[in-house]
Amino acid sequence: MGEVPLAVNRRSHHRPGGGFQNPWPNADLARFRAFLRWRLQERRTHPPAPNPPRDSLPRRRPSFATPRADHGYRSLTWVGHATTLLQLGPVNVLTDPVWSERASPLQWLGPRRLMSPAVDFDALPPLDVVLLSHNHYDHLDAGTVRRIATRFPDTPWLCPLGLRAHLESFGVRQAIERDWWQTVDAAAFRATCAPAQHFSARGLRDRNETLWCSWVIEADGARVFFGGDTALHPAFAEIGERLGPFDLVMLPIGAYEPRWFMRQVHMNPEDAISAYRMLLNGTRTAPPCFTMHWGTFRLTDEPLDEPPARFARRWREAGLPDETNWTLVHGETRRL
Ligand code: ZN
Ligand code: ZN
Repeated sequence: MGEVPLAVNRRSHHRPGGGFQNPWPNADLARFRAFLRWRLQERRTHPPAPNPPRDSLPRRRPSFATPRADHGYRSLTWVGHATTLLQLGPVNVLTDPVWSERASPLQWLGPRRLMSPAVDFDALPPLDVVLLSHNHYDHLDAGTVRRIATRFPDTPWLCPLGLRAHLESFGVRQAIERDWWQTVDAAAFRATCAPAQHFSARGLRDRNETLWCSWVIEADGARVFFGGDTALHPAFAEIGERLGPFDLVMLPIGAYEPRWFMRQVHMNPEDAISAYRMLLNGTRTAPPCFTMHWGTFRLTDEPLDEPPARFARRWREAGLPDETNWTLVHGETRRL
């Protein structure tokens, strides 16, 4: 438990010579040749399920408090994918906001929206903080950043290392960068940047130049883990130990097929349940688990509605109570 190994460990996700890497064994994304094998070869022999018609999944009218909730009120509203509005007492938090119709055609996983954003952008309450997990187009959308920066110019954006300049170029006035395990202390909240196993890119030549992360945010006495975009990795237990216990856990469960290619970057429902258990890390708490990163953009080969059904099955098989499986429909607001 000396200082030196900890210090080394803390830097092991920094790539020598600049940029970032996953610090765990066998965590590297398969190379470009594997990507081609998936898109050109495997998709011919195993074609993915066809996309359902636009807006065919169930949706509900959101019911968040406007402009702000009272102290002690906690709720989550699912806008779609990894975009959520959290109300932790009077503190309004937005995660990985994407309202655009289409992600950039330059993105190599080229997603398109199959469910409309379930909250009207103009109906958003004033935002106290935006949490950003990484720079993929299904999480960092320039058009949405500009709209938020115009409408809420004073809102701080928290991002992992390397993204401040991007956010500023999109009009954000207060972008705050953090490395894993670093904290932002503000009057209304405290947020800590935490590890994730993933990668970053917005073009063809910027692979892993900026960092990816998860976030823990505490406000009004509630503590929430926002998983961002991640594969299953060993540091979930350390996150639970150092930053828990949590009142709410938000985990991605979609974009996992084909497994041989996606397992290094995305969890499947089974992985998410393992991550949930690691985050609890022996504590007796059993917080709700909100499932995200499914049902909105078609990123990979599994059917759009498979992740929640499979998650519910596995959750029950694991002996976990149905009421803590927070698999919401688009637009639904759920209170803690
Ligand atoms: Zn991503
Ligand atoms: Zn993603």
